[in-house]
Amino acid sequence: MRYRVQDLEAALADVTLSMPRSPTESFGTLPVAYTSYTGPNNPHIEAIADGNINLLQTLYNPAGETFPDYSSLYEHITCKIDLRAFLGVSGSKFRCLFHNDRNPSASIFTSKAGEQFYKCHSSHCGFRGNIRRCVEKLRGCTSAQAGRLLQEVFRLRIEESPWAAGQRQLLEENRRVLTTDLESLYPDLYKNVRRDLVLLDQMIGIAIESSELEEFVRSDLGIVFFASNRHLAKVLNIGQHRTVSKKIANLCFHRLLTKVSQEQIPADLLQRSLKCNSAKGHSSTIGYYCIPPYTDDRLDEAVERARLYQNCPLSRRAATYEGYYRTFGVDIAREIYPQIGERDHHPDAEDRTFQIQEATMAMIGEYGYAVEREILDQVSQGKKLVYGIVKTQFKRSLHEMLQSYNLEMVQLNKPLKERLGIEIPGYPRIIMPRRQDDSEQADEMD
Ligand SMILES: [Zn+2]
Repeated sequence: MRYRVQDLEAALADVTLSMPRSPTESFGTLPVAYTSYTGPNNPHIEAIADGNINLLQTLYNPAGETFPDYSSLYEHITCKIDLRAFLGVSGSKFRCLFHNDRNPSASIFTSKAGEQFYKCHSSHCGFRGNIRRCVEKLRGCTSAQAGRLLQEVFRLRIEESPWAAGQRQLLEENRRVLTTDLESLYPDLYKNVRRDLVLLDQMIGIAIESSELEEFVRSDLGIVFFASNRHLAKVLNIGQHRTVSKKIANLCFHRLLTKVSQEQIPADLLQRSLKCNSAKGHSSTIGYYCIPPYTDDRLDEAVERARLYQNCPLSRRAATYEGYYRTFGVDIAREIYPQIGERDHHPDAEDRTFQIQEATMAMIGEYGYAVEREILDQVSQGKKLVYGIVKTQFKRSLHEMLQSYNLEMVQLNKPLKERLGIEIPGYPRIIMPRRQDDSEQADEMD
């Protein structure tokens, strides 16, 4: 292979570059007084650290070049750009850019594969990396952002294939539909999705950016891309990843976004996304998506869904696999959560829900109230199930249970305990028959 997999992964993971780092932001993450390591005047390093494209172009005067695909562009960046000239260093050894180096201890070498590397020979620094890693480190940015910077500075482009151009046009047309037609021509649909349109627009942006990675993203469905909920939450400035997944579910339900099932994900993309996620040291929920063209037929389906939804509204709180499954049936639930699939939706979960309800109602029948802890103990002991699983299931089905049996969950306090004659230690939350018609009360508990 001519390119390093992890660099491609990084590029794929982070293709949203619609939000460039501001120079001040990146400057803030740099080591203090980095320029002192290289002597007072290295305009190259300053310009790289600042992301000053214009200055860098003046320094290198790049001719620009077009490549047929991402791999060849990538090879050009790591092998053909003169790293020495790029960093503005000279001599076989020079003072390291990444630590306070008194004696020149850094050099540049070319690997057998033809890739140019920076290497610091100092034992306590030891920085080693190709041009992208150098930019990443100097700028304090991600690998993908470093790649973009290089691409921009050296005017490197990927020739757009007819397929990619066609896909991009469809996506641009989708954007037009969303911004100009949706509210006026499809008001029912608009009403249901308007809170999620910013997210959808971001995702269309990712799809458009991904079009140049055709080798990885091309499928019969169109461009298949992936995004982690963590990343989307960050881009949208939402604290909760769960909120993102509920927004995504709503968009999928309304046919404006498609979740791609495991077997439809292009093999390379799948492999790389999984590696990439584990390489980041945290596992965030990754979704694989494609954006269907918003044809008249598609929008008719979307409107149909909007009406279905208005007949059986599903609160955001209940908008989980379980919620969709219970409200709209298994086909729609699987469409929205293809990764859960047949195997996982299980009679088991159904069974647990049933047991939870049964235990709760039995306790209420006997004592007039039920304590969450006792319900969980009873269900997990009786069936030797892991407590955590039962607890999760309890939370998922709580809302539905409260609704269907006209119950409420309340936090015990002293007066309430006295009034209801409850004699248990402490002040846990209890489930009891609803005292008044106050459906919001249950909502406050989560
Ligand atoms: Zn060093």
